[in-house]
Amino acid sequence: MPPRPRRVAPRAHDRASAIVARLAQAYPGATTELVYRTPFELLVATVLSAQSTDARVNTVTPALFARYPDARALAAAAPEALEPLVRATGFFRAKSRAIVGLARALVERFGGDVPPRMADLVTLPGVGRKTANVVLGHALGVPGLPVDRHVFRVAQRIGLARGRTPEALEARLTAQLPPETWTLASDCLILHGRRVCRPKPLCQKCGIQSDCAFYRSGGPARAARPAPPGHPTAASGRRRAPGPRAGRRRSRP
Ligand code: SF4
Repeated sequence: MPPRPRRVAPRAHDRASAIVARLAQAYPGATTELVYRTPFELLVATVLSAQSTDARVNTVTPALFARYPDARALAAAAPEALEPLVRATGFFRAKSRAIVGLARALVERFGGDVPPRMADLVTLPGVGRKTANVVLGHALGVPGLPVDRHVFRVAQRIGLARGRTPEALEARLTAQLPPETWTLASDCLILHGRRVCRPKPLCQKCGIQSDCAFYRSGGPARAARPAPPGHPTAASGRRRAPGPRAGRRRSRP
C-alpha cells in the first residue's frame, strides 16, 4: 500500500470518483495494452516497456515467452541469448540482463512465483513502484495505481491531486479513491493522456472539460495566445506546451 497522505475532504473523494467514472465511460474496457497470460509474463513485459511502447513490446513477447515460458526457464538463460529477441524494444542488452536477473531473483527467493506484495516486488532487480503496481493491479488482483508520465501529467492538470514525484502523487490519488478503482483510474488516465490530454492537450475533443481545473482556469486559451514581446518563447514563435505545473499554478483561487 502507498503511504497515506493527510486526510482528504469527503468532497474530494466524490469528485475523484466521479471523474474516474466519466473517464471509464469514455474508455470502456480500459486496461493495460500489454499482452500477457501470467503475472510472470506481465512483469517481464512491463520491464521491457521502459523507454518503449506497449505495442512494440507485444511484438516481441510471443517469441520470448514461447522459448522462456516461466521464471525458471528464463533464469537459466544467458542474457546474450535474449538480445535478438528483445532488440526491437530498445536498450536490448540492458533489458536482457535485467529480465534474466529478475527471473533469477524470482527463482531464488520466491520459488519462481511473482510475489503478490509491493514490499517484495520492489526488492526485485529493475522493479519499481510503477511496475509493481501494474502487475499487482492487473495480474494479481491486488489494488495498485501505477503512476506513469501520463498519469502524472493528466491527474495534475485535471486537479485530481498534486505531487512533486510519482510516489507522492500515487499516495494522494489512492487516498481519494476506493482501492477497487485504483487500477482502473490509472488505466483511464493513461489512455486519456495518450489520446486526448497529450502534452499539448486536445481540449476541444475532451469529454471532461467541466471537471478539469486546467480547462476551467482558461488554460487552453492562454496556451493559444501568442507570446508577448520579450517572452523567452516569443523570438521563435513557439510556446511551451501547457503542462501540469501551468495548470496547477493557475488553477489556484
Ligand atoms: S480539458 Fe484539456 S487539459 Fe483538461 S483533461 Fe481535457 S484535454 Fe486535458
